[in-house]
Amino acid sequence: MLTDPYGRVINYLRISLTDRCNLRCVYCMPQGGAKWLPRAQRLSNDEILRVVRSAARLGISKIRLTGGEPLVYPEILSLVREITTTPGITDLSLTTNATLLKNLAEPLVRAGLNRVNISLDTLDPDKFKRITRLGDFSLAWNGILAAEAAGLTPIKLNAVVVNGLNDDELVHLAHLTLEHPWHLRFIELMPIGNTDEWGAELPAEPSRYLSVQQMRTALSALNLQPDVAPAGNGPARTFRIPGARGTVGFISPLGEHFCQTCNRLRLTADGKLRACLFKTGEIDLRSAIRESQPLEPFIQESVLRKPAGHELWLQKMSVDSSRLMSQIGG
Ligand code: SAM
Ligand code: SF4
Repeated sequence: MLTDPYGRVINYLRISLTDRCNLRCVYCMPQGGAKWLPRAQRLSNDEILRVVRSAARLGISKIRLTGGEPLVYPEILSLVREITTTPGITDLSLTTNATLLKNLAEPLVRAGLNRVNISLDTLDPDKFKRITRLGDFSLAWNGILAAEAAGLTPIKLNAVVVNGLNDDELVHLAHLTLEHPWHLRFIELMPIGNTDEWGAELPAEPSRYLSVQQMRTALSALNLQPDVAPAGNGPARTFRIPGARGTVGFISPLGEHFCQTCNRLRLTADGKLRACLFKTGEIDLRSAIRESQPLEPFIQESVLRKPAGHELWLQKMSVDSSRLMSQIGG
């Protein structure tokens, strides 16, 4: 078992498979895309599997694949198959923008994937295009339906709420849970690698941020009642509209820190182990892999260096990160 100096059991590894993406969400990437990692700097499939096996031997049991967009990773199906058959791994999920999910949902289930989290910030096709710059709403929507039909459930939807962009859709999005057994989570925008201008007619710094308290106030007419969190709802505080089939959650990385219960490590696409989303301290696993060193001591070192928490608040926005969210693996 991996336990950090603050008594937290670390059993969860989030893996960024690639820094690349088929979309360019305004809060995540520059319009022209990021400066992509050259192939030699990215971990190969076998290298990722080596990390998974070493982590599982130390007590990591839950894995989430993310990115960038994990569904543009060419070997996604074989990787899922290998991870789900790794001794010690009991839960494998994936975070996706769902635009490539329609044709991949069933093959992913057959490969052993348990669940998906899907990012969906709007139900308005024009706004979807403005937010994602390249995306087509109908592809994402059909991807969600395909995931549900294939049994990648419970479906969790993540909506990053940006003041002046989709804050007027909170009620509309929450209403999805009346009809569908989906778990919608509203997430505070984080100032990671995205604090420059987003482009004409898009909200500017610092007026983009909305706290979960402000979101709850905007939803007060829905009479949200505290509810039991579905399995794997992580740091979300969970509520239900009376009589709804699904739940509404709030994730507040800035307003209400959840560091005390943080159980995760992150592996970046270039093979760095990172113990906190908001802190730059990274351990270079890629070099250790390529020098054929055992990885367990490096993973243990990362856990020992995991900070107690971060100091980022809505009122105090500066992030200890030169990386984009797509590079760290959000
Ligand atoms: N491409 C996949 C997707 O969009 O679901 C996975 C990677 S994406 C980086 C993971 C999550 O990070 C998404 O839910 C996205 O909305 C969120 N995210 C990206 N940038 C963010 C930011 N600046 N603040 C809050 N959440 C952000
Ligand atoms: Fe791509 Fe996900 Fe970032 Fe959007 S949030 S640009 S879909 S990695």
